[in-house]
Amino acid sequence: MKPAAFIRHVPRTLDEAVKILADVAPMDGRVLAGGQSLVPIMAFRLAKPAHLVDINEVEGLDKFVSDGKFLSIGACVRHAAFHKSVVDNPLGKLLTYVARHIAHYPIRVRGTFCGSLAHADPASEWCLVAATLDATMVAKSTRGERLIPAKEFFQGIMATALAEDELLAQVRLPLLATDAKFGFNEFNRRAGDFALASALVTYRLQGGKIADARIGIGGAESSPRRMTEAEAALNGQVPGDKIFRAAAEAAASAIEPLEDHQTNAEYRRDLVRAVVRRALEHSA
Ligand SMILES: Cc1cc2nc3c(=O)[nH]c(=O)nc-3n(C[C@H](O)[C@H](O)[C@H](O)COP(=O)(O)OP(=O)(O)OC[C@H]3O[C@@H](n4cnc5c(N)ncnc54)[C@H](O)[C@@H]3O)c2cc1C
Repeated sequence: MKPAAFIRHVPRTLDEAVKILADVAPMDGRVLAGGQSLVPIMAFRLAKPAHLVDINEVEGLDKFVSDGKFLSIGACVRHAAFHKSVVDNPLGKLLTYVARHIAHYPIRVRGTFCGSLAHADPASEWCLVAATLDATMVAKSTRGERLIPAKEFFQGIMATALAEDELLAQVRLPLLATDAKFGFNEFNRRAGDFALASALVTYRLQGGKIADARIGIGGAESSPRRMTEAEAALNGQVPGDKIFRAAAEAAASAIEPLEDHQTNAEYRRDLVRAVVRRALEHSA
């Protein structure tokens, strides 16, 4: 099928973009970034926006900025930008490792980091990164700028705290400690498919024991989130198989698994147990 008719607006500045979005949002106007989720949905006529605010020509949105505390990622930064490390910090390596698990190369060349967050697919790797690292979303509208913590941003399957006239202009990820370790694992049936479950872990070692543990789970619940129960099982412990299994068990017990035509709750719980353990093994 072909998309229903729409009007495409091509602003050149962020102010112009939010002004147009404010005008067209009440008429089902939407932001168009990489188009890798929106365009297929439009082609199937599951969405019929009358207006698209194409942000690809907006000056400055394809930039990274690192101020020593945060890495800020602009709205038009593509997944493929992370194929090589973008910041001299363990976060750079983490993003490079995760990026290669997103879809396929042609999709990574067009799709954007911020578009993934705005789309909020529960299985999105970037949503998992944002939730695990407690990212801050910078939303812009004609009313000004609003900072939204990841915990409040993700509100369920493809639902976020963004108002219809707000543009996700930037996402700020905190840099990791220079000695931080990370591990990532996801399970999908075919390479490039959305993950049925994924896990991201980061921590430091203090005197040989785990400190500042973060464990995030994606794909298994309606939104990715940190698993504090599993983090508690790691902090203060010497890394090793027994402790990794204990954390994996804690995560598997704590989740409220999604069920769909591919998976029942028990299977997904099992997957969570596996991806957490594997992510921890990867970190070590
Ligand atoms: C075959 C296939 C496989 C895929 N596999 C994966 C995968 O494994 N993992 C994964 O994470 N993704 C996957 N994707 C999705 C892909 O990563 C998309 O790029 C991403 O979900 C959306 O980013 P985009 O820039 O293309 O957004 P678009 O498609 O342009 O927009 C998506 C939605 O977000 C809104 N939006 C976009 N940018 C903004 C913004 N800055 N402010 C406010 N709203 C905005 C749009 O209005 C729209 O509603 C896959 C896609 C395809 C087609």
